[in-house]
Amino acid sequence: MATIKIIGDTVVDATREELAVHTAETWIKRIEELFISERSKQIQIGISEVGMDCRKCVARKLALTPRMIDGAWKPFIGTAVHDALERGFGERWPEEYNLERRLFVHEYKDLKLSGSCDMAAIIDDGKTVVVNDWKIVGNPVLAKARKGEIKDQYYIQAMLYGYGYEQLGNEVTHVALSFLPREGELKDAVVVLVRYDKTIAIQALAQLESMIDAAEIVGWDAVIEKQPKASFCFSCKRYEQTDSMTIESMI
Ligand SMILES: [Zn+2]
Repeated sequence: MATIKIIGDTVVDATREELAVHTAETWIKRIEELFISERSKQIQIGISEVGMDCRKCVARKLALTPRMIDGAWKPFIGTAVHDALERGFGERWPEEYNLERRLFVHEYKDLKLSGSCDMAAIIDDGKTVVVNDWKIVGNPVLAKARKGEIKDQYYIQAMLYGYGYEQLGNEVTHVALSFLPREGELKDAVVVLVRYDKTIAIQALAQLESMIDAAEIVGWDAVIEKQPKASFCFSCKRYEQTDSMTIESMI
């Protein structure tokens, strides 16, 4: 619970002071209700989730298992910064950037993978784009990004956006992840420009397809059961670790 601290020398009637405290408690509590966005209610797997380390989570998402709807402060900050950047770039430089473009990435059986991409900068001939995804992160992630180390999940997400843009008829040279500091100053930001490689996107999609195919034969419960979960996965804490963990998933 947040701290409500009263200062000032002029004494206020006790009942009204209690009322003021209660009002403050209410507005703080209500922020949590704002965490729940339309996006968090989405059941289909999202582009940002395809490359999750936890393959059990990926399988559960593909199986359209109802997800726990929850939010948190840090993603809320991220969403707010995204909104402000979209508005700012859209108002000032509308000709130079595609913002929040809806991308249709892939369809396979019941899977329809689509989502919106934060931005793509239009360069030279107007057909070529550099895709960009904002990540609002803490210092440890920035430090890693500065060394060129990024999560597979981000890497795959960026490639899938590139693939989506390519299907719109654009030429994609790079897919960038712009890591912006949640603390600190803008000078601490790191942009990782990844050279676009379509095969990464295709491979990630092929993995989803094989899970979908397997589920047709053995059912989703069995597929989910067989997928290794990441050791640190909070969503999977309630699942027993299976012995099917592969070496790649451990590194
Ligand atoms: Zn998981």
